[in-house]
Amino acid sequence: MVQWSRSEGEVRTTTLDASNPSNSDSVERPLADSSFGLQLSDFAAFGEFAAAGLAATTAALERAGLSYGQSRVPIAGAAVYMAPAGELTTLAVGNNGRIPAPPGQCESPDPDGKGYPTDHGETATIRQITDVAAVDWNRVVFTTSLNPCIMCNRTLTHLWTLGLNKIVVADVSTFEGTVDTLKALEGMTVVELDNPIDAEWMTTFARTYPWDWSADIGLIPPSDMRLVQALPKDVALQAALIDAVAAALPELETYGAGVVTPDKKVAGAALDQRDSHGGNPTFSAAMMAMGRAGSAVNLRESVLVLLVKESGSVLDVAGFGSSSRGACELFRPGTLLTNASIGPDLRAVLSEAGVPVVEREDTRSSSNSAR
Ligand SMILES: [Zn+2]
Repeated sequence: MVQWSRSEGEVRTTTLDASNPSNSDSVERPLADSSFGLQLSDFAAFGEFAAAGLAATTAALERAGLSYGQSRVPIAGAAVYMAPAGELTTLAVGNNGRIPAPPGQCESPDPDGKGYPTDHGETATIRQITDVAAVDWNRVVFTTSLNPCIMCNRTLTHLWTLGLNKIVVADVSTFEGTVDTLKALEGMTVVELDNPIDAEWMTTFARTYPWDWSADIGLIPPSDMRLVQALPKDVALQAALIDAVAAALPELETYGAGVVTPDKKVAGAALDQRDSHGGNPTFSAAMMAMGRAGSAVNLRESVLVLLVKESGSVLDVAGFGSSSRGACELFRPGTLLTNASIGPDLRAVLSEAGVPVVEREDTRSSSNSAR
């Protein structure tokens, strides 16, 4: 039986000397089994980056174990950069934000403590990298503790377009995720592990908290579809929802998004903030709005409202954001209502995901125009 005690307290950052990997065995470890049974040779597929793979995976599993110890979702990620001289730098470590962190330990943009459900292990990690464009992704190993879902796959695939080509999946078997499509990316090396400690956390969590685990992957059926069903034929309702989200986003410049629940409340809204984060896809507006809506909201019975500044502007997949795309594919909002014109590529993605689209010209902004 695999056990892991966190009675010793805080997570320790591991620094490994890549020029002398055997040093990893001499690092003082407060937990007897905190190496998680990992060996440098597990990451031989990464060649000179094997030490970065070991460091990233150790950091991700430490964080997953901490999350497990807090009765939160035990899924975490870590990104470790290796300099040409071999020095390792941990760029970010993050964990699933569905279940809020204990007070004072909140790392997610979740000041209300209502959970941030678009923070999965991977996206929580990437969200902490304030400027993804400044990172030499070709020298980074990214570890996720669990086989990635479609939202995290889209986000990691975005990083692949920036040069990421080394990923570790520490527990590839407990969840049937999307690792195969990551492996198919040109130039990508994926190390797949079946870490027994990690798998034990995940299976124990899923058995103990089945609702939270199902919600985390968008599998809770909707129970109140009144708003979603009324919306397509009710233009006054469409206008009201657009106005409500617009009121929550007074500084709209490019695009913004809001989640409206069946009781017609705006549960979360966000402006697109990719421009100030080097294009970081986890700062795309819909991704953030779905996170800010909180974990109690079932997106499948809610309306995701997308607003563009100029009513009728085209919003395509790139404009929408790869993480927002993946979040829609995973959580499947009941309807997407927008004052934009949805581009054919995004329309195809949403159709495939089963998300109906309602386009409505925004009379507020068109009345402001010169026509
Ligand atoms: Zn995920």
